[in-house]
Amino acid sequence: MKGGITMSNKQEQGICPICGNDDLEYFGFENEGTQVFYKWECNHCHSQGNEWYSITFIEHEVTFNGKY
Ligand SMILES: [Zn+2]
Repeated sequence: MKGGITMSNKQEQGICPICGNDDLEYFGFENEGTQVFYKWECNHCHSQGNEWYSITFIEHEVTFNGKY
């Protein structure tokens, strides 16, 4: 857990940045270019926001070979 005097303005996955509670409700998933975000609402203070992630390429998985 990161240090800090107050619980606010935390930047941690699954933690409300407003009140520091970990009781987030996720209700959506969208992408924008190479980044995606989950929409969340805090069940504790009812703030809402988006939790951003960057997409990292791993590998190609060929599910159909078009050359036959
Ligand atoms: Zn909250």
